[in-house]
Amino acid sequence: MPNHPTSESSAAASGFVCPVPLGRPQEIQVAHGGGGRFTQDLIDRIFLPAFGGTTLGARHDGAVFTPPAGAALAFTTDSHVVSPLFFRGGDIGALAVHGTTNDLAMCGARPRWLSVGFVLEEGLPIATLERVVASMAAAARAAGVEIVTGDTKVVERGKGDGLYVNTAGIGVVETRTQIAPAAVRAGDVILLSGDIGRHGMAILAEREGLAFESPIESDSAPLWPAVEALLAAGVEVHCLRDLTRGGLATAVIEITEASGLAAFLEETAIPVSEPVRGACEILGLDPAYVANEGRLVAIVPAAEKARVLEILARTAPGGPPAAIGEFRAAPRGQAVLRSTIGVDRILDRLSGEQLPRIC
Ligand code: MG
Repeated sequence: MPNHPTSESSAAASGFVCPVPLGRPQEIQVAHGGGGRFTQDLIDRIFLPAFGGTTLGARHDGAVFTPPAGAALAFTTDSHVVSPLFFRGGDIGALAVHGTTNDLAMCGARPRWLSVGFVLEEGLPIATLERVVASMAAAARAAGVEIVTGDTKVVERGKGDGLYVNTAGIGVVETRTQIAPAAVRAGDVILLSGDIGRHGMAILAEREGLAFESPIESDSAPLWPAVEALLAAGVEVHCLRDLTRGGLATAVIEITEASGLAAFLEETAIPVSEPVRGACEILGLDPAYVANEGRLVAIVPAAEKARVLEILARTAPGGPPAAIGEFRAAPRGQAVLRSTIGVDRILDRLSGEQLPRIC
């Protein structure tokens, strides 16, 4: 069997008519994950031009870098399976960067280095991959993080859902005090950086084809700039948590259980936009449990409240921020929400998955 021409011009020159598409494939093929010429083509044409950087460009088996002397490092990982891949206010690429860099920021760490692992489904349009990669690159630049290593695997048609992406990240801790649930004290206030519920409702609207009067955009955004400003101002931050799966309620429950203290939240103080509130009412969802991708709670001493609200208003996405509650000594390990009608209820973890494939 003769060798297939590798370009249309050589096909024309030889008069050879090939039944298979010539030139570069427009869709992901199994060979793109094989480590051979097709994989190299993805690296050369898509990943390197978008992600750039000297470390990735070194084409080594791993990334080698030197952290600042004596620095503590934070390390985290997150896999992203969101469906659909593109939604109002974001896409799986930007989300994968924000998800991991925000977790580093919650440790008081400046995000520095990211790895990216793609699982691509055979048949995925190359143009879709290019769009996701461009979005990741832009989000990484905005977050000041460098993509230093990566991997691509391909699964057969029907065995994936377009693409999945894992990111792992390393950050340099820029605080000498512990930022963790164990550092929370009775009397600390709970400050929320902005309105809640946008990401979950944006995904749900997209997926279910729901049209709301005012379209809801995801809040997917980097949180390090806000944390950096808090640390630079010398704020005594006791705990930070980004409000992802399970939303505000789950984040507060987790901190409450880990600290052994009690959280008291005022529902009337929690900012929820009108479109999100309306959509939640129609669908029977509690906005306190809906996912966010660009919101945090900061737990700080009451004396720091005004200063932290001012800093968050300037630096955090989705403001204005709000003081929504406080920690007390008892009842130990419980989170209590005082509702808009003045009734207290104990917040509990969700027993099922409110919205699957949200991130
Ligand atoms: Mg988190």
